Formats: sequence, structure tokens, C-alpha cells
Amino acid sequence: MTQTRTRLERGRGALGPALALVHTGRAPTRAVLTTELGVTRATAGAVAAELEALGLIEVDARPLGSAGAQGRPSHRLAIAPRGPVALAAQVHADGFRAALVGLGGAIVATAPGRMTVPADPAHVLDAVVEAGAELLRETGRRCVGAGLAVPSAVAEPEGTALNPLHIAWPAGAPVREHFTRSLAAAGIRGADGEPLTGHAGNDINLAALAEHRHGAGRGAQHLLCVATGHRGVGGALVLDGRLHTGSAGLALEVGHLTVNPEGPPCHCGSRGCLDIEADPLAFLGTAGRDPGPESSLLQQARDLIRGDYAEPSVRAAAEQLIDRLGLGLAGLVNILNPDRIILGGLHRELLEADPERLRAVVAERSLWGRSGGVPILPCTLDHGSLVGAAELAWQPVLDDPLAALGAA
Ligand SMILES: [Zn+2]
Repeated sequence: MTQTRTRLERGRGALGPALALVHTGRAPTRAVLTTELGVTRATAGAVAAELEALGLIEVDARPLGSAGAQGRPSHRLAIAPRGPVALAAQVHADGFRAALVGLGGAIVATAPGRMTVPADPAHVLDAVVEAGAELLRETGRRCVGAGLAVPSAVAEPEGTALNPLHIAWPAGAPVREHFTRSLAAAGIRGADGEPLTGHAGNDINLAALAEHRHGAGRGAQHLLCVATGHRGVGGALVLDGRLHTGSAGLALEVGHLTVNPEGPPCHCGSRGCLDIEADPLAFLGTAGRDPGPESSLLQQARDLIRGDYAEPSVRAAAEQLIDRLGLGLAGLVNILNPDRIILGGLHRELLEADPERLRAVVAERSLWGRSGGVPILPCTLDHGSLVGAAELAWQPVLDDPLAALGAA
């Protein structure tokens, strides 16, 4: 008894790190968990059992083909299939999307909504939270927290949307506060039965965090992510697993790098910024297409590049955007010296349409690109911003599972 308690006390500090390993797919078996944590097999066993008792993971003792360190089959560790979820919400230039995201970055359920985002953030936040509440009712899952992704830098610690350029919100709108209020109004409560405090972050920052934990950014130490949202271009840097947000949450505003000095005026006051030279609207316009009302700008641009790349006007537009994007990336490579670049939104399609052209522009214009050849890869997650918003909500559970789930 005494021995068990000591083991569990020693194990409590390992619960969070153990959960993080299973969450990011780095501990598929108890043998790997033991090695990764640097603890005894008995401690790893107690830790896995505690996470299973909390309803977070499943320990499967049935033998599998592969053997553990001692030649015995190791217990497999998996995310509990009916475990708790985080409510994730995203607001973008064409409306919103709600999702429930489990451990492992798995999207359990999702619902989109299209609307012109009104100037009062409360309207769209109420709508997206209500869509999330409906998903919780339908699935009957327990909710551990809620995170919001917005197309704006989010100032910390205030939780305000500083520069919502492509939606009608006033600069400095207190989005986290509104989001928390919407959660309370929808009657959504945490695992402990208490009202939830919402989390909020920039959509591209959150996508980069999600890709680092679950997608194309895994294992990178200096990960640069550049992506289009539904409008505009954003960037993010993940250093040693942490988002680099700058002193006030405003770092990596890459959308306003000038990539065409003679280009059209940008809403920021400059000209020819990446934001207006390499986003879905720029692509549709350069290809001579008028955007229609049938789907989001991002979707229309994706459909065009995927479906009609053989058409000369589409190909020429793609090449122009690839060249401008490459110029921007080369500048960033010179400044940041990343060990990997990942591209999301329409930039993923531009890379896939002509990977050699983009890599050549970056290599030609960058010191580090020429000498080292920085890998440039497409993002792999669908709805990366939502998965990243869920990461914010999961973080307290990953830090201390017992305390966060009210089971201490
Ligand atoms: Zn600009």
C-alpha cells in the first residue's frame, strides 16, 4: 500500500508529460512511454493506469506482433475513443466553423456556418458557440475547455483582436471576453461543472501549433508556417515547441512584407504586400475570375487551381503568386533561418502545383536557402486553426491532468 502510494506520488508529476507523449503520437506503447519518461516500468504502468482511470487513454494489454524491451509484448496506449473533447471555434472572412476536438488533434465533429461577419463580435461568437453546443448535445461528450481562432493578431494578456483587417470588427475588440460570455450564455460548462474561461489566438499561429504537434511540423526545432486564411496572409514561428508571439502577441505579421514595390495599395497603407499579392482573392483576380457567392474565396481559389491548372490563365496566375510568395519566403528565411517551412491554405495548393518553381525562387533569393535547402512542405491537417484552438483548451489538462479534470 505504502509502496503503491509512493509510486503514484512519484508518478503524478509524470502524468502531464505522459499524456503529452500519447497526445502527440510519440508513445504508442507502454514500453516506449517508460523509455521516454525515463522512469521504471512500474511507475509508467501506474501513470498509464491513472490516465486510463481519468477517461483520457486506453491501455490495451492484448498481445501485438511486436515485442517490448524484455521480449514481452508491450501494452498499447491509445486515445480513449469516447473521451472528453475541447470545443474549438473559428471566425473567418466568410463566416465561422465550430468543432469538437479530442486528444491527438482528432476532429470528432464539425459544423460550418456562412455569414457576413457583423461589426459586433458578439453576434458571430454567439452563433459559433451555439453550433458547438449543438455538437456537444449530439455527441454527448464531456467538454474540457474552449478555444477560438480569429483572423487577427490577439494581444496578450488582454485577449483583444488588434487588427481584424478582413472582417468588420473594430480594432481592439475584446474577443476572449465575448467568447467566454457566449460560452456561459450557451450553458457550456467544464469537466468540473464550473463555467469555462475561453482561450483565443491568431488563426495562423494556432494552425502552426497544431501542425507542430500533429502534422507536417513534427520534430522541427525552428518551424516557420506561412498560410492564407480566407483573406490575407499570415505567418507563425514555433521555436522548440513553443509559439513565438513576440512581446505582445504581434510577432510574424508576414502579410505586410512588400513583394511587389509597384503593386496595388494595401489596407495597411503600404503597397504590394504579400497580404494582397498572394491570397485567394489575388489569385482569382489574376486568373481573370470574378469571385461568386457559391462558396468561400479560399474554396473557389482551391477549386480553380486543382481543376483548371492546365488552362494558361490559371497557370500564369499560379506562377505569379508562386514568385511573389517565394520572394516573401526568401526574406523570412534570411532573417529567421528556419529548419522547416510549412505552407497552408491556398499556399499549400501553390506548392503542390509547382514545387520546383517555389523552391527555386526561395533558394535563388536566400543565403540560407542556397546553402542548406530549407525543406518546404505542405500543411497536412484539415482545419489546422481549429485543432490549434483546441490545443489552447487542452493545455491545462496536458499540464496537470488530475487538477484540470477536478479529480485531485
Ligand atoms: Zn500591407
